[in-house]
Amino acid sequence: MTDCTYCGCPVEAHDPIFVSETPDGEPTAQFCNYGCLSAHIDAADLTTGTACEWSPSQ
Ligand SMILES: [Zn+2]
Repeated sequence: MTDCTYCGCPVEAHDPIFVSETPDGEPTAQFCNYGCLSAHIDAADLTTGTACEWSPSQ
């Protein structure tokens, strides 16, 4: 059983998304769905200071 990185629920009960932050492709995080993935990104401030910056005003 694999728990959601954000909410801790078993991801198998939903439509799981696996995220890899390593070059060898081993999953390092998993989420129930895009809602948990998005919430985790917001909570962890992962959109701040990344190399691929996105700005709607430019
Ligand atoms: Zn979740």
